[in-house]
Amino acid sequence: MRTGSCLCGSIRYAVKGPIGPVDHCHCSMCRRAHGAPFSTFGRIRRSDLELTAGAELLTGYASSEAVVRSFCARCGSRLFFRHAALPEHEFVTTESLDDAAGIEPEAHIFVGSKASWYTITDALPQHEGYPFGDD
Ligand SMILES: [Zn+2]
Ligand SMILES: [Zn+2]
Repeated sequence: MRTGSCLCGSIRYAVKGPIGPVDHCHCSMCRRAHGAPFSTFGRIRRSDLELTAGAELLTGYASSEAVVRSFCARCGSRLFFRHAALPEHEFVTTESLDDAAGIEPEAHIFVGSKASWYTITDALPQHEGYPFGDD
């Protein structure tokens, strides 16, 4: 089981199942929301996610009709992402995990909207959008 938290430590969570696939997302909304050239999320089963502290501070923002991004209302850390097309899944930011040992990103997604100044230098596959699967 993996655990994670926001920066201020108010929100804590546990993931009781596997995490993956893990992708680097270069979409314009992740870039703005995270203030970074890409975000890194791992897919989990929603039923495997347990909030163990601070649930009252978890705030959702619908960045589009299909997407809700959740973050800590106190410190702003981005924790989760859900997409209406994947109702059984949730995505967790790998950098909010307490220990990300063994987490292996598999691909870059939404590279069509990548930051112009950022050059992808690894050999991972690059996708224009999100390769939806129903795993
Ligand atoms: Zn926080
Ligand atoms: Zn994105």
